[in-house]
Amino acid sequence: MRDEACIFCKIANGEVPSNTLYEDDGYRVILDLGPATRGHALILPKDHYADLYELPDEKCAEVMKLAKKMALRMREKLGCSGLNLVQNNGESAGQTVRHFHLHLIPRYDDGSKIVEWTPGNPSPEELAQIRDTIRG
Ligand code: 5GP
Ligand code: ZN
Repeated sequence: MRDEACIFCKIANGEVPSNTLYEDDGYRVILDLGPATRGHALILPKDHYADLYELPDEKCAEVMKLAKKMALRMREKLGCSGLNLVQNNGESAGQTVRHFHLHLIPRYDDGSKIVEWTPGNPSPEELAQIRDTIRG
């Protein structure tokens, strides 16, 4: 399950070199080339799934377990005081590489916010309507 045109398929499967932090049969964890912070890493499945919508359920669980394992290691080795998990799906969400990846972004005490939004102020009726739409 590879996409020959996909750079993350090539990196995950070792055809293109990367700074690998961890590897097993299903995954490679690499340093991001354009890091948001020191130690910014990406979890890549070796099989090609464009995004979360395509990722099989069992892989979702494996990715989150691996994220925890890496988080513990990063806290110990880098001395970071926090961690953001970021996972973009689709262009509107900022996804630039269409091969599922989970960002692990270590945070340090002097850092600014990375995941930030201006809180909205919906009415109770709007919230109820959205709730009903999603619940179906
Ligand atoms: P996205 O915006 O799709 O969620 O994130 C893509 C990430 O992949 C970016 O943070 C970008 O710096 C990183 N990236 C893109 N190409 C490469 C590459 O060839 N090697 C590595 N290590 N990271 C890459
Ligand atoms: Zn791929």
